[in-house]
Amino acid sequence: MSRVYWVKGRSTNIQKSLTAKIASILSLEEMADVVVPNRSLAIKANVSELGYGHALPPVAVTALFEQARERGATALVTDSGSLFKGPRFDGHGWTDSAIVQGFGIGDALDNQMMLAGGFTNEEGRFCPSDGDHLGGVELGSLILDISNLIVLSHITAHPLVGVAGAVYNLGMGLLTRTGKSRVHSCLELRFDENRCDGSRACLSYCPTGALSDDGSRVSFDPRICNGCLGCFMSCPKGAMSITPPGIAEFQESVAEAAAVVMKNLRGKAFFINFLNSVTPQSDDYPFSDIPFVPDLGILASADPVALDWVTWQVIQRSPGIPGSIAQDLNVLHEGSDKILAITGNTPARMLEYGEKMALGNTMCELLISE
Ligand code: SF4
Repeated sequence: MSRVYWVKGRSTNIQKSLTAKIASILSLEEMADVVVPNRSLAIKANVSELGYGHALPPVAVTALFEQARERGATALVTDSGSLFKGPRFDGHGWTDSAIVQGFGIGDALDNQMMLAGGFTNEEGRFCPSDGDHLGGVELGSLILDISNLIVLSHITAHPLVGVAGAVYNLGMGLLTRTGKSRVHSCLELRFDENRCDGSRACLSYCPTGALSDDGSRVSFDPRICNGCLGCFMSCPKGAMSITPPGIAEFQESVAEAAAVVMKNLRGKAFFINFLNSVTPQSDDYPFSDIPFVPDLGILASADPVALDWVTWQVIQRSPGIPGSIAQDLNVLHEGSDKILAITGNTPARMLEYGEKMALGNTMCELLISE
């Protein structure tokens, strides 16, 4: 049975500082195969979209990087660019975004922070999958060359998978742009012209020209839409919606892509979910509302399915924050499914499919430290 560790959120003395908590996670039995002297180690972190205001502090990443290096691992930090045409679309913009957000790439990270798919976000290789949907997916070249992997996720709600956690970041966060397009290809967007106020906030995010402006109004051509969701996340009026049938397939495709990463990883992986500043929007949004649950700490496991299942349950069992969306939606009380209320979805389908793909198992043991 998989083990999930929960280091709770409060820090009441120096022995419970953020760096001490990270040290305790690195000391877990499972880490012996992941942080290995003289073996390469990729730490997958999130560089969030500019405008998103509740990103995980870079110190969480740099502390993990530093401590992994102190234990002898040849560590680096990685991520992928965005599928939509925002500031993180290519290597230049992604690096700028990381610096603006406070990542000391040259100093704190010793220049060891790089895109998994290279500067173009397209360096990688097609790797076959065993599932029902993708046939295979393009992994960034970095993940094909690295030994071990730690996926560090900033937990938020997510409009398609309910919880943006370990499975989502493993399945999406190490793909090239073509790989991400493949996973998104099941999504269909709908444009409600009556809601559009002509602000044109969406236009610069569209990479395909599916959204256009003839000078008098915005129009949408679904035939050339790649389902990147840039317009959905940037529209202030909710004029773009995702048609429901594609969402179940998307959840399964994410788990399928995650299984491809695990199959092609040379070494071992470990997963860390930070439940700090849990916002209704994921890090891909160009804005963020206030968090809807208190900081709940760090959950960690070698099993991404077990980890995300526990993460979802912990959020569900937490009280909501007054004045947040949890109050708007009347889900402040402990036990209410805040994720379902906020996103209209839960990660259930993704996790069930993850089990089918032998990615992990929701049957697990939870070990708690205060
Ligand atoms: S119209 Fe399609 S391709 Fe363009 S931003 Fe929206 S989802 Fe992306």
